[in-house]
Amino acid sequence: MDRRKFLKSTALTAASVASLGITPANGKKRTVTEKVNTRLDVKGRIIEPSRSIPVVDGADVVVVGGGPARFAASIAAAREGCDVLLLERGYFIGGLFTGCDVTLLNNMYSPTPDGRVQAVFGLCDELCRRLDSHKMLAWAGTPPNVDTEATKYFMERMCVEAGVRILYGVQAAQVSMSGDRIDAVIMETKSGRVAVNAKFVIDCSGDGDILEWCAEDYYEYKYDISSMWRVGNVGNVRFGSATPNEGVRTGHLGDGVKDVDGLDIYVLTRAQIELREQMWQQVQELRQKPESGGAYLVSSPSVVGVRTTRVLNSVFNVTVGGAAEGVSYPDVIGFTGSDSTIEWKGEKIPGVKRKIWQVPYRSLVPRRVNNLLVAGRCFGFEQGLRYDAREVGTCIMTGEAAGAAAANALANRCSVRDVDVTVLQATLRSHGVKLDW
Ligand SMILES: Cc1cc2nc3c(=O)[nH]c(=O)nc-3n(C[C@H](O)[C@H](O)[C@H](O)COP(=O)(O)OP(=O)(O)OC[C@H]3O[C@@H](n4cnc5c(N)ncnc54)[C@H](O)[C@@H]3O)c2cc1C
Repeated sequence: MDRRKFLKSTALTAASVASLGITPANGKKRTVTEKVNTRLDVKGRIIEPSRSIPVVDGADVVVVGGGPARFAASIAAAREGCDVLLLERGYFIGGLFTGCDVTLLNNMYSPTPDGRVQAVFGLCDELCRRLDSHKMLAWAGTPPNVDTEATKYFMERMCVEAGVRILYGVQAAQVSMSGDRIDAVIMETKSGRVAVNAKFVIDCSGDGDILEWCAEDYYEYKYDISSMWRVGNVGNVRFGSATPNEGVRTGHLGDGVKDVDGLDIYVLTRAQIELREQMWQQVQELRQKPESGGAYLVSSPSVVGVRTTRVLNSVFNVTVGGAAEGVSYPDVIGFTGSDSTIEWKGEKIPGVKRKIWQVPYRSLVPRRVNNLLVAGRCFGFEQGLRYDAREVGTCIMTGEAAGAAAANALANRCSVRDVDVTVLQATLRSHGVKLDW
């Protein structure tokens, strides 16, 4: 097929998608008319005086948020020749993956009756191979479990090697727009409130922060806030998952604080304090066991373990049915493993009986803004997929596709909705992404 306006040719406009009933009827849909801060108990208001904000930088592609999705989005766009600026409020790459010790790459592989089959390739595979070559990845009968610090190091190295310009310590706080285009991202920094110009923006903030500021449509999926952490000197006690480091194991607090609003600063603070207490108590219990070798807390999270908040109401949100039945999409951008149990047609289907499922390009594409893509745990999917769709492997896969798509749109001076999908798929294949099964 020659150059085509894929989304137009398939006529999947916002109106037709809605009329087909394929957008999720779950989660809380927040529209552009809702107030940003209704979640907090507002005691009063002050008027902020208008001020001029210095523009200090600019790039072809500005990627907001430095989790696994942004790592992949930045590298993919840079490898396609774009000038890429990566904005991260912390001082390391990896988001929850490295900052919350969420180091088990569950759905990079899918469980089968005979073992596991690899579903996610491309940059996820490349990162794992680098970690493995330094013995910083454990396979011990589980999905790959990586060492946190080595992963931070290699993710940062891979960004630097690809020519990505990293800016740490910057909290994106607003966007400046002309009509349906974002012109600049405004951020709070130690150097003051500054802005960077952007030709394309990729929202990898995990919480869809950019969606809020540019009034894109999204859903809110409340979920549990929890945590993982690493314990050393575990001795012979049965605890958590093996890491690549002798005597160090990864623990998991399970559901943690159940079904809360991960955008409420009071909830987040209470959750972090409560979860740290739980971790501490569990380590003290381990220390009492005679077979433990003097267990101690190696690390507790520097990023609060929020699972889902805002999720894009994209041109086409991936459905539970699509994942359960392994539907093929003409604009597939990657596969993902099926590690969890999902409910479909009144039945609970365990991971081992599920198919590997596809993610289409349309699920990264907003309905209105022309130069914005969304990747990671806030791309468009139904609430019933909130376990699988936000796993690290899927986040890296969606990030890689978003980066390559932004490069494609830049080269063709077109909207993200007019990206040539056949060219995008060819680019992804050339980066080692598997699109045929
Ligand atoms: C307790 C828990 C256990 C989990 N277990 C697993 C597991 O075993 N296996 C698995 O594969 N997945 C697991 N996950 C899911 C997985 O960790 C996340 O869904 C994944 O890391 C999301 O990646 P992301 O890039 O979308 O966002 P995040 O990892 O959330 O990264 C977002 C990044 O953006 C930055 N940021 C956010 N807002 C701004 C802003 N306004 N300006 C600048 N920077 C910003 C943040 O600092 C962060 O670095 C778990 C999650 C939790 C909470």
